Amino acid sequence: MTPETPSPTFERLFVDDVPGDPVADNYRRQVLAACYSRVTPTPVASPRVLATAREVVELLGLPQDVVDAPWFAATMGGNSVLPTMAPYAMCYGGHQFGNWAGQLGDGRAISLGELVNDEGERYELQLKGAGPTPYSRSGDGRAVLRSSIREFLCSEAMHHLGVPTTRALSLVQTGDAVVRDILYSGHPRPEPGAIVCRVAPSFIRFGNFQILAARGDTDTLRTLTDHTLRRHFAGLIPPDGTPTRETYVALLSEVTQRTARMVVEWMRVGFVHGVMNTDNMSVLGITIDYGPYGWLDDFAPDWTPNTTDAGNRRYRYRNQPGIALWNLERFAEALLPLIEEVSLVEAALRTFVGTFQDAYRRMWCNKLGLSDARETDDALFDGLHEILAAVETDMTIVFRALAEVPAEVPADDRRAIAPLAEAFYEQASVTDAHATRLATWLRRYAARRADDANTDTERHALMTRTNPKYVLRNYLAQEAIDLAEAGDASRIHELLDTLRRPYDEQPERARFAAKRPEWARNKPGCSMLSCSS
Ligand code: AMP
Ligand code: MG
Repeated sequence: MTPETPSPTFERLFVDDVPGDPVADNYRRQVLAACYSRVTPTPVASPRVLATAREVVELLGLPQDVVDAPWFAATMGGNSVLPTMAPYAMCYGGHQFGNWAGQLGDGRAISLGELVNDEGERYELQLKGAGPTPYSRSGDGRAVLRSSIREFLCSEAMHHLGVPTTRALSLVQTGDAVVRDILYSGHPRPEPGAIVCRVAPSFIRFGNFQILAARGDTDTLRTLTDHTLRRHFAGLIPPDGTPTRETYVALLSEVTQRTARMVVEWMRVGFVHGVMNTDNMSVLGITIDYGPYGWLDDFAPDWTPNTTDAGNRRYRYRNQPGIALWNLERFAEALLPLIEEVSLVEAALRTFVGTFQDAYRRMWCNKLGLSDARETDDALFDGLHEILAAVETDMTIVFRALAEVPAEVPADDRRAIAPLAEAFYEQASVTDAHATRLATWLRRYAARRADDANTDTERHALMTRTNPKYVLRNYLAQEAIDLAEAGDASRIHELLDTLRRPYDEQPERARFAAKRPEWARNKPGCSMLSCSS
């Protein structure tokens, strides 16, 4: 694409489908009876594209050289709006850390419009950090480079891992400084600003429905819900095209099941979202809003990366399924004005437990390479979880290593656990008692494997495609951030490239599979993240 080539034509189904805010001025306010406000990105000093994801360029049906067109940097940096775009910020509310927070909305995200690819798939492009909106409350509408790198890389890493997620098209450095107090410790400092262009079929959250229900605005609630059904769940709509109470119940069931399966995928790869507020829950069942998320290094089910949540650890790794259900209950309450019958809502929510348990058991079977999921396997999984949590053991490394455990587990405990040696953070912490406990479990596992339909080759292949070798370890993201803040974006590209094939050995990239180095144990950005971004 040359500078003369016309830019792509955007569509605007969302803004035409649901009611918008009649006020055009960009000042902070409560927005009633509307799902969005039209708002234009605020220009930045000197937008420079630091990274793009070629898979997302392709997904959007754009030519690869689009990223070199002058309009691309200008548009993705918020300095120009193409004629067919209709930028807007969404209105939503949400429960934050368990408490109703009222109107939140896109305080720093601005959707540009929708692109339809050759397959007819529609994707929305959204800039995060493009300036204030009517929903910015006390915020500046901007995002810093460190959090933008984290969102850009993690969206793509999650996609390549097979976890449902929003995507990231581009990462643009703005040339402006943004002032943030990283740990809320009274030390604000200027940081480089950046903008990520996120891509998803929709960014509609539980909170979009909640705010309308909270305000008793059933008309707009129905319009938004019908839009969501038509555009994203068309298969649920009756043949005559008119959603009924049963259609809304079916929507709730579908969102419930998708959310359950999404969380199972998080658990599989050791992802901790960190801020599972209802405004950060996509109605499509995709991971959304990468803020103070983190990855388990050692398998510590009570770990959360989010220092803002350090007191209660509400969003710790093992709480995620329960919180997902709690959030779905809030979503269900929002749909109640359309469904009216509490028993129907409860029945839809009950699909969570069955869906979750089946998918969760299947997931752990896959991680251990077992073909048929049996109820009795739960005790095997629980036993492993307890052992892994007892001594600092790297989650990602240990599951790759388990694939190499031979069918005949040696009688000597130390020899039995030798294939897992690399996964321990401190060899000294592996006491004789622990070695015996782990070896005993390995023998149980070997017996279960012997009783499984999978051949050894099938088991190994299943484990290798379920247990990634490469995840976006917290310290890896931080190293890329430190380099980029010093002007070197190369590590972002290197990591993106590695994370494209997370299940492949990639021996030349083995350094990115190493367990957390000691310096990263308590370093801000690695083990401690806040909502300041
Ligand atoms: P989060 O915890 O990142 O999901 O954000 C919660 C709410 O705060 C959302 O409505 C965001 O749009 C808003 N928000 C976060 N950071 C900013 C910012 N820098 N400026 C304006 N609004 C923000
Ligand atoms: Mg959010």
